[in-house]
Amino acid sequence: MSATVGIPRALLYYYYYPQWKTFFDHLGVKTVVSRETTRAILEKGIKSTVDEACLPIKLAVGHVLDLKDRVDYIFLPRIVSTARREYICPKFLGFPDMVRNNINNLPPLIDNNMDLYRKGSSLYNLFYMVGRYFTHNPASIYKAYKASMESLHVHCRDMEAGRLPFETGGKDNQNYRTRDGGVHDVTIAVIGHPYNIYDRYISMNMIKRLWDYGADVLTADQLTETAFRREAGKLPKQLFWTLNQRMVGAAFYYFERPDVDGLIHVASFGCGPDSMTGELIERYARRSSRKPLLNLTIDEHTGEAGMITRLEAFMDMVRWRRHLDDVAATL
Ligand code: SF4
Repeated sequence: MSATVGIPRALLYYYYYPQWKTFFDHLGVKTVVSRETTRAILEKGIKSTVDEACLPIKLAVGHVLDLKDRVDYIFLPRIVSTARREYICPKFLGFPDMVRNNINNLPPLIDNNMDLYRKGSSLYNLFYMVGRYFTHNPASIYKAYKASMESLHVHCRDMEAGRLPFETGGKDNQNYRTRDGGVHDVTIAVIGHPYNIYDRYISMNMIKRLWDYGADVLTADQLTETAFRREAGKLPKQLFWTLNQRMVGAAFYYFERPDVDGLIHVASFGCGPDSMTGELIERYARRSSRKPLLNLTIDEHTGEAGMITRLEAFMDMVRWRRHLDDVAATL
């Protein structure tokens, strides 16, 4: 019987899941994804994490707990860097240790390093080490790695084309949801970490709500790497957190794009990088744009009613601003 590897539906799952799944599939290893986020999963994560941790980390611990008695291994790569000369938030780096020290009776963790900081480093280093858990045949590992890279490229192209990595009932092969083709009269850019904006429970279904309010939604993931880096390059100093660079670059880009009517910045309570990103985006909005900006900070106590009220008020403001602009254009 083949081994089963659990993949938490958290953190960079939203970017890398298609690649990880393809890799394990090619090695004949079964993967199990933790269930979609619920209050119970979040509560379990909160109980097993230090208070100081940010919400996404608490939630990720909850997803590990959801998997722990159902799989032979849990895949928790230690993500150090996803781009050359840049780092990812240090909480990713320490996450496997946090899990190991806070949860008893865990299956073995596969926590090899993903580190692309140095010139010449490659994702293959990670996949080779991971593949060795299941086979000693380097050719099989290499073949699985090549197939996984192809999946990653397809996933990136799909997102750039507007497909959002939403979940659709946990069916492994349907982890996308196409941007709503319905009628919309405004376009809103939602800028936030993928694990905040694409998790339907944590975001309180924000993207779906915006669609229902008649908005088309864009996220940072519709931008190519070249585009968001060019925009983030407007800052006097380069940000060295990759995800925040993506968010800031996307915000700057969408502020300038004529068909975008407003921006929502979604931050996690307790996230240092997000507080800086929020400040940079807000300053840019004040200085260079007339577009409405809504800053939302979410934590485990955020109530749905408050969020809905703020979203509705924001949509009213966006439409009112659009109306004023249309009137001004006719004068
Ligand atoms: S970037 Fe912020 S939200 Fe993400 S893991 Fe780090 S502290 Fe948490």
